[in-house]
Amino acid sequence: MSQKYVIGNWKLNPATLSDAIALATSLNNSKDQGCTVGVVPALVHLSAVKNALADGIILGVQDITHKTADTGAFTGDVSACQVAKMGAGFTLIGHSERRQHHGETEEILSAKINHALTCGLSVIYCIGESQDEHERGETFGTLKNQLATLQSLAQSSTRTDSTDIARLIIAYEPVWAIGTGLTPTPDDIEKTHRFIKDELSAFGMTAPILYGGSVNDKNAPQFAKSELIDGVLVGGASLKSEHFNAIIDAFANPSNPSK
Ligand code: PEP
Repeated sequence: MSQKYVIGNWKLNPATLSDAIALATSLNNSKDQGCTVGVVPALVHLSAVKNALADGIILGVQDITHKTADTGAFTGDVSACQVAKMGAGFTLIGHSERRQHHGETEEILSAKINHALTCGLSVIYCIGESQDEHERGETFGTLKNQLATLQSLAQSSTRTDSTDIARLIIAYEPVWAIGTGLTPTPDDIEKTHRFIKDELSAFGMTAPILYGGSVNDKNAPQFAKSELIDGVLVGGASLKSEHFNAIIDAFANPSNPSK
């Protein structure tokens, strides 16, 4: 069976450092689970969360600058090499909230991916269609355009090293499912993941494909049973340790008959 991932994106939460440390500490029993567990705290909490987490839980950041991989005159920015030196192992790139609220284009995202890989970070590249695109039946067209960003990466002469490609994970997150309580059916997710796999293989890549959007302790077991869902990226439910631990448990024991 393939490696499964359960990653919590804390976004701009929690409000205090002590709450972030408490949340990190509450996950420490999950470190020996049969799946990879990760958290993505707010940058201001990165160091403290790193110190509070047990070995084996992976740590990421929510964003890096596209301006440079390392240092420079870019007030307010934080770079891939800086967070890597702080102990982050991966970064989210292309989350719909960044695309939407910060106008991040495919060109910007491509630069960020390159910087992340240059500095040794893994990348969780987020893609997904909007509600309108979903209703107009344009999901696959949107995903194709978003995945094309990786195609140029695969073709780049400086990015043909297979270790780079191995450090890519895709998170399929339909925008209409994020924070709404709505999700596609497992069948629909599988069809979309199959499409993503085919697109990637057309430019010589493979990557784990996670699902994200209103995953919770109730629906996680049905997603965990699918061979085509390599894990989940969890927003809201990752802030409640009981719920997040239940999601981890679902992915660590996907065939548990009690679920
Ligand atoms: C997300 O924003 O990545 C996400 C999946 O959020 P939620 O689980 O709250 O829908």
